Amino acid sequence: LGLCIGVNFIEGEREFSRVMRRADLALYAAKNDGHNCVRRFDAAMERQYDDRMQLAQDLRAAIERDELSVHYQPIVEAAGRRIVCIEALVRWRHPTRGPISPAAFVPIAEETGLIVALGNSVLRRACADAAALRPDVVVAVNVSSLQIERPDFVETVMEVIKNTGLAPHRLQLEITESILLRNNEATNRALDRLRAKGVTFALDDFGTGFASLAYLKAFPLDKVKIDKTFVDDICRNQQSMAIVAAIVALARGLGIATTAEGVETQDQYDALRAFGVATMQGYFFGKPKRIEDFALEAASCDAAAEKARIYAA
Ligand code: C2E
Ligand code: CA
Ligand code: CA
Repeated sequence: LGLCIGVNFIEGEREFSRVMRRADLALYAAKNDGHNCVRRFDAAMERQYDDRMQLAQDLRAAIERDELSVHYQPIVEAAGRRIVCIEALVRWRHPTRGPISPAAFVPIAEETGLIVALGNSVLRRACADAAALRPDVVVAVNVSSLQIERPDFVETVMEVIKNTGLAPHRLQLEITESILLRNNEATNRALDRLRAKGVTFALDDFGTGFASLAYLKAFPLDKVKIDKTFVDDICRNQQSMAIVAAIVALARGLGIATTAEGVETQDQYDALRAFGVATMQGYFFGKPKRIEDFALEAASCDAAAEKARIYAA
């Protein structure tokens, strides 16, 4: 436990709510810096706060007007490089700022609760798009803890599945270690209920969080996604090699599938294959793109492009 203090001394500041907000911002900055520290309010904190509030407002409007889109990135079988899954990744083109990375706006959506509407809209779109694909292609959708912890989460997912006609086993939900870390009874029940219907679960960014191996035993997971940080230096770093080898062995022992994330080069692909990673994802196989672009690839299909064909024949 640590002590954090935010201080706001601005000469002549009279408006109470603003004084409090500034003290809050300083406190927030102090907490971000770690334990046992004091931060004084400065104007940059307020600019940053105003900027995030503005972005949150724009995001809310974009969600209401259904302006977000979804791109899909292929996940391929290591051996034949055939597409077995596509991951849905949300995209937002801001009317004046242009494209904004989800790494920037998803955290804002989580702070403001907008992630529930955003996540549901991605889920609906992804299931509808996937229903038109080859029946053995799975669609992976990222879900945030705020979504899972809602009492209506299971019903929402089941309703989307029903309305889009997607077979439940073709939907994989990607969750993060932080969801398991919260160890919430309701979350466990929600995962169990969806799994009983056939929906599968992948643990995203595996190896970066605080998840202990005990979670792999306690939670019914179908897949772990080996984080890009280990893939990046898999060809030159002993530690990364050891970690990947250990994850693959562990997953195999537990009957859980593995996907390596962020594969960019032939060397990484070769190394991961040698380690026995079964499926992979990364720019080396394909960047996220619109669902229509998969169709174009499928249309110009020859023997070499067979791997790209994901539409039903
Ligand atoms: P993530 O779930 O780990 O998704 C993988 C990210 O890595 C994507 O970034 C993808 O474009 C990127 N990537 C894939 N292969 C490569 C590669 O070879 N090299 C490099 N440098 N990057 C690669 P993106 O689309 O910017 O998404 C960032 C994060 O935002 C996602 O990370 C996910 O945590 C979050 N996110 C995206 N869409 C959603 C969503 O619909 N719901 C929620 N809750 N989060 C989302
Ligand atoms: Ca993911
Ligand atoms: Ca990931």
